[in-house]
Amino acid sequence: MGTRRFPQIPDRIQQLEELAYNLKWSWDFRARLLFKRLDAQLWKNIQHNPVRLLHEIDPERLINASHDPDFLREYEVTIQTLDRSSRGDKWFSREFPDLAKQPIAYFSAEFGLHTSLPIYSGGLGILAGDHCKESSDLGIPLVGSGFVYPQGYFHQRIQADGWQEDIYELLERQQAPIEFAGPDRTAPFLVDLKVGTVKIVVAVWRVNLGGVSLYLMDTDVVENPQGDRELSARLYGGDKDHRIRQEMVLGVGGVRVLRALGIQPIVWHANEGHTSFMLLERVRELVQAGSTFEDAAEEVRMTSVFTTHTPVAAGHDEFPLPMMEKHFAGYWDELGITRQAFMELGRLGDSFNMTVLALRMANGRNGVSQLHGRVSRRMWQVVWPDTPQDEIPITSVTNGVHAPTWIAPELGLLFERYLGPEWVEKHDDISFWNRVMDIPDKDLWEVHLFLKRKFLAFARERARARWSEDRVDGRQVISMGTLLDPDALTIGFARRFTGYKRAAMIFHDLSRIRSLLLDRWRPVQIVFAGKAHPADEHGKHLIHQIHSLAADNGMAGHVAFVENYEMHAAHFFTQGVDVWLNNPRPPLEACGTSGQKAGMNGVLNVSVLDGWWYEGHNGNNGWAIGGPPEDLDVRYDDDADADALYQLLEQQIVPLYYDRDQNGLPHGWIQMAKEAIRSIVPRFSARRMLKDYASRMYVPAALAGTKIKV
Ligand SMILES: *Cc1c(COP(=O)(O)O)cnc(C)c1O
Repeated sequence: MGTRRFPQIPDRIQQLEELAYNLKWSWDFRARLLFKRLDAQLWKNIQHNPVRLLHEIDPERLINASHDPDFLREYEVTIQTLDRSSRGDKWFSREFPDLAKQPIAYFSAEFGLHTSLPIYSGGLGILAGDHCKESSDLGIPLVGSGFVYPQGYFHQRIQADGWQEDIYELLERQQAPIEFAGPDRTAPFLVDLKVGTVKIVVAVWRVNLGGVSLYLMDTDVVENPQGDRELSARLYGGDKDHRIRQEMVLGVGGVRVLRALGIQPIVWHANEGHTSFMLLERVRELVQAGSTFEDAAEEVRMTSVFTTHTPVAAGHDEFPLPMMEKHFAGYWDELGITRQAFMELGRLGDSFNMTVLALRMANGRNGVSQLHGRVSRRMWQVVWPDTPQDEIPITSVTNGVHAPTWIAPELGLLFERYLGPEWVEKHDDISFWNRVMDIPDKDLWEVHLFLKRKFLAFARERARARWSEDRVDGRQVISMGTLLDPDALTIGFARRFTGYKRAAMIFHDLSRIRSLLLDRWRPVQIVFAGKAHPADEHGKHLIHQIHSLAADNGMAGHVAFVENYEMHAAHFFTQGVDVWLNNPRPPLEACGTSGQKAGMNGVLNVSVLDGWWYEGHNGNNGWAIGGPPEDLDVRYDDDADADALYQLLEQQIVPLYYDRDQNGLPHGWIQMAKEAIRSIVPRFSARRMLKDYASRMYVPAALAGTKIKV
């Protein structure tokens, strides 16, 4: 069993420790309930983190629980269920028995797993987290590689003047659900790296996600000089020179760490260009073992998968060639190529582009929605100048979200009742979801109203804490959503604040939106949340603009901005509003996943036909703002889009919401909510996505790799 980290836990319930260190609890609500039972108030105060709970709980409570028959019953059931789920025969081993034990490495700069582990900034990270969780559920032998960022991504506060303040807090590693990666869980697992001119020691942490392990590097160890200790301090912090060194550790170091752990993957997946140096390091290994560069590069290509995530040009990392030269001096010799040939691997104009490198060095290449696949083929034709655009070898796998993480437990219980307990196992079975239509309207609506009240209570609690702890002024308390009305049609808009997402579009015509918001009989309210990247002045400006409207008496408390959007808040938002608004400038939203979370919870999407909604909208499961994009050029027609949005609100959305029977039930609305659940759960779940990745990307790469070896 090894050393016990919590000797105060009575023997009878000792496995609580193991349970706390496996993030399976983050998508198993019965396991979470078990911890909550120990101390519900503490559980809430520490934002649902079992490791912290075990540190802070009064030991007396643990002793009482170990004698409480009700608690013990739940404890046994939970332990047994988790045991069974870790042993059972899963999809991947049934479909591909020969590959079931061969690791697939998944490299990502961020992972959004739970709010207690702040190593993500937004959609990309949460997608990576969902990818790992679903791999565990399907039995895909994935191994994750990334960083633990001791200062994470920043916490957001809005100051009295409406400007965002970025606050960095140090992660208490002992309080987080991570453990030392080595065989001895009581001692740090250190790996010595020399990467080009960078010489650094990393401590490696492990995160357990059901059957999947994730290894996170941490440069903040005493063995490193002060400057280097900061290398993994923050997500996307520092200047370009900092970034290149960070990415060298992420890619090259990540490979070495897996080797040090004795893990030999047969397929390697680079999630976004930040991790592309991983591909070079594997070529270097093969060349050092005696291959020619050409053979080594071919082997790496055959066994690698690369996913690109953005059509925004500035979203692709690139480094000036002299900077590459400085940090990789000598590395090209180990690859067996010249400096110039080395630079050509990623050269785009005067820079070394991480996406170009990955496109050249991985044969499995994909965008993250059908539309984004097309956009990527056009965008990266520079890499294949002689190939017609339609034949550019970049395919697409549309993103999905991890259903057990994002569907509200209260709704899950309703599915259990009307669809059967097998709903989790069958959640990507399209015809199975026709059964949603059998849920009585009243039952679905009751759950929705419960989740809506929970969301409003969440906003109010945050406002209350800021009012009493930080003495913020009254206007701010109102702007945080304390006057929101549980009976009003509630629109949610929550995501990163950045120009192309057009957070303020709904205020394009102030008088027109005001008359919708302030309608006496059919009021509407809008709740915003989201962080702007610290360097994004325009994003910060948008927050300021919305905050001013939220604090304006003229809006009568019908506009709110909730601070510090992250995963915890995202659950309340995507489960508790009535309408999910998404109005990016097409085609800049590669996929978008928050609307998928909302749709699975019966929240209706109103969105431009970009990203996933282009393939997800079926005419009955939500609304489309404007028509499909005519070509792949960026449109800037804010006037037309805002007008289309107002028309939808005025003529369809508001009337449908307020069309009630004598019991107050909006049957037409509920019908659409059911259609949203029916059509979105099976097709936009991470389960469907992972089955696609496994069959279309991983297995072909694994087979190609095996052929090379025989
Ligand atoms: C799902 C999610 C996102 C992604 O939002 P999009 O609107 O799809 O870009 C961002 N942040 C958080 C916290 C999320 O949970």
